[in-house]
Amino acid sequence: MDSTRASDDTRPVPTPRRPIVMHEFRFDPVRLPESAPALRAEVRAFIAAQIAEGRFDPRVNSWNSRDPEFSRACGGAGYIGMCWPKQYGGHERSALERYVVIEEMLAGGAPVGAHWVADRQSGNQILRHGSERARQLILPRITAGECFFSIGMSEPDSGSDLAAVRTRAKQVDGGWSVSGTKVWTSGAHHAHYLIALVRTAPLEEDRHAGLTQFIVDTSRPGFSTRPIYNLYGGHDFNEVIFDDYFVEDDMVLGGVGAGWRMVTGELAFERSGPDRFMSTFQLLLESLRQVGAEPDDRAAVEIGRLVAHLATLRRMSTSIAGQLDRGANPAVEAALVKDLGTTFEREVPEVFRRLLPVETTLGRGPGYAENLGLTILRSPSFTLRGGTREILRGMIARGLGLR
Ligand SMILES: Cc1cc2nc3c(=O)[nH]c(=O)nc-3n(C[C@H](O)[C@H](O)[C@H](O)COP(=O)(O)OP(=O)(O)OC[C@H]3O[C@@H](n4cnc5c(N)ncnc54)[C@H](O)[C@@H]3O)c2cc1C
Repeated sequence: MDSTRASDDTRPVPTPRRPIVMHEFRFDPVRLPESAPALRAEVRAFIAAQIAEGRFDPRVNSWNSRDPEFSRACGGAGYIGMCWPKQYGGHERSALERYVVIEEMLAGGAPVGAHWVADRQSGNQILRHGSERARQLILPRITAGECFFSIGMSEPDSGSDLAAVRTRAKQVDGGWSVSGTKVWTSGAHHAHYLIALVRTAPLEEDRHAGLTQFIVDTSRPGFSTRPIYNLYGGHDFNEVIFDDYFVEDDMVLGGVGAGWRMVTGELAFERSGPDRFMSTFQLLLESLRQVGAEPDDRAAVEIGRLVAHLATLRRMSTSIAGQLDRGANPAVEAALVKDLGTTFEREVPEVFRRLLPVETTLGRGPGYAENLGLTILRSPSFTLRGGTREILRGMIARGLGLR
């Protein structure tokens, strides 16, 4: 009862607000290491040499573009698994040195798609939570740029609600037998492995218990893929089918029942990097060239706003790289960077579509009209992949104590 009200007051009593328990957002500034300028120059020279050899056209690429030969060259140059121990083929560099390399790769429009998932997340998970056999078998091949991974999380009817996965594994002699279907599995038709989230115990009250992650060798019997063609006719997605697929006990990641913890840890790596705000960087650069050195007032305002956002996102993202380097798990901060970053990525084609009188094309070869056309078709996916905008905002609200 509200004691400040008279007893005949019929106005509705406001619902008492829950006390807000604020997550402390941390975006401490980070200083890049002293080695950064030399490393940056080295990567730029590497990319320039690849372009000169005709390996790729930077104007049309985003980090999704895949080229196994380019990945092998990156492996040879020491740009994959940079932070992993030397005993597994790594280079024992810091996360911030790795940040410099991937930032340059993305800014240079390099086709890093083949090795991207293995380098960004799967290899880290195997290093931290895999068996010794899995580490020795897989990590050196990833660092050589010869082993590619996919992410086997989403399923029909459980994309956002990952805890509802229905692909199951039952225990058999020496391991597990997996059956079920995954969907939207990017690059599974090229991948050597994928990490699959699977139910290993019945759905109980705690929906997160009973989930396990397995390292799946795609060359084994019982594994198959079916293509799903996307909006612009490309084959990147797949449906993945497990039919009594056998996986050994030592290919369990992090222990039976630890799947939920594994997945949430992995997503912090997946959500905070420059790939979450630089998918349209090439288009931004080309658009600036198209606008020219003397933009009108409207263009100047838009460009200034985009560049300011980009600088802020970069600062937030490097801060998270620093935190991951110190072994922290900044999941809420990573969700914030992904939400803001992918919103930025989507804005770039929208802004320049309005500013420039360009008739977009598709399938007519490299050029500004083609890049703009392709990016407009791709851009809805930026705020879906790796967790939708609504899900991320829910996490952020919970982090702020608002839910
Ligand atoms: C380009 C691309 C690549 C992808 N690659 C992979 C991959 O390699 N591996 C993989 O496992 N998955 C992949 N995905 C799948 C992606 O992770 C899912 O699409 C995403 O998690 C959403 O799941 P869903 O499609 O089932 O949509 P749903 O979960 O059905 O959501 C539909 C809509 O409802 C909203 N919604 C759902 N739940 C809530 C809620 N609780 N509160 C508010 N709103 C909600 C969502 O935000 C969305 O707008 C990829 C997706 C894209 C677009």
